[in-house]
Amino acid sequence: MGSALVKRLDGKRENRIPDMHDIAQDARIFVAGHGGLVGSAILRRLEAEGFSRLLTATRGELDLRDQRAVDHWFEANRPEIVFLVAGTVGGILANSTRPAEFIYDNLMIHATVVHAAYRTGVRRLLYLGSSCIYPRHAPQPIREQDLLTGLLEPTNEPYAIAKIAGIKLCQAYRRQYGCDFISAMPTNLYGPNDNFDLESSHVLPALIRKFHDAKVEGRRSVTVWGTGAPRREFLHVDDLADACLFLARHYDEDEHVNVGTGEDLSIRALAELVRDVVAPGVALELEPTKPDGMPRKLLDVSRLHALGWRHRIGLREGVESTYAWYQTAGSSRLPAATATARS
Ligand code: GDP
Repeated sequence: MGSALVKRLDGKRENRIPDMHDIAQDARIFVAGHGGLVGSAILRRLEAEGFSRLLTATRGELDLRDQRAVDHWFEANRPEIVFLVAGTVGGILANSTRPAEFIYDNLMIHATVVHAAYRTGVRRLLYLGSSCIYPRHAPQPIREQDLLTGLLEPTNEPYAIAKIAGIKLCQAYRRQYGCDFISAMPTNLYGPNDNFDLESSHVLPALIRKFHDAKVEGRRSVTVWGTGAPRREFLHVDDLADACLFLARHYDEDEHVNVGTGEDLSIRALAELVRDVVAPGVALELEPTKPDGMPRKLLDVSRLHALGWRHRIGLREGVESTYAWYQTAGSSRLPAATATARS
């Protein structure tokens, strides 16, 4: 998405809702997890808006699981605004085969960054969770207040527990220390810099890769895991970046906010859409021995809509542009790193 579009749409929005929390152009802004799907989108967006003091640290430079290292980095760099979008993430298979990494890495990263942000007086922190925090059988669409009302989906419970802990950290530091820390819960995300590795990716990038490979290799069908019946909602990561900036400027409460489109479709319908964009004519073969996961995961986004934000990128348009990105940049980066937030 070009910066002209960003500016035009922002202009529109600013006419409607004044910024509660203006972010100065020279504010020191740390994007924790800038190398991944979400962090890179937030960084692109901040650069497009002309913010001049953007702070990043690679995993080699800073192990976010190490409290001492994180404290030292915060003391040396003194960020004023933090986007906490770092984490170890992955799709349904990675979550079930690497549960220890998913719970340990994420618990640690959330705790170290929130604590260092408190200690060094960060002015605002936006923590990004995940829609998998909600109970497996939550009523659909899922409202913010459905958190902790039932059992979690077993295929990603360790990750979900860590993500819930992130929300509770922000709330606890707000209550005890008055920190201005907020949380956003995005639905399934996709876009440039996604992970297209078939073992660890989520469904949408996996399908792009599978259909692309089938086309290139002249195969007639691709496999789609599970029954194809589960329903999922997908948000383009540039829309998420827009929502994160919007919330950082306009939202100031204890409760987390769902971020999504409010629309979902079945995995089978998604596979057909991706097939039509990437490799028309290739057939789908369901693989029911693979897990389905949550039957449905549609977020209720009425709170976000009431605040004045709506997504802009339709699913087909987003799949088309993501596939264009994959063809130019994505396939050369395989297998992609699994760090940095979403799920
Ligand atoms: P989830 O939203 O946490 O369940 O994570 P995923 O994005 O990994 O999976 C969503 C749904 O897509 C599940 O029902 C998967 O079984 C299904 N799916 C179908 N084909 C694939 C695939 O190739 N990769 C992945 N990750 N999921 C797939």
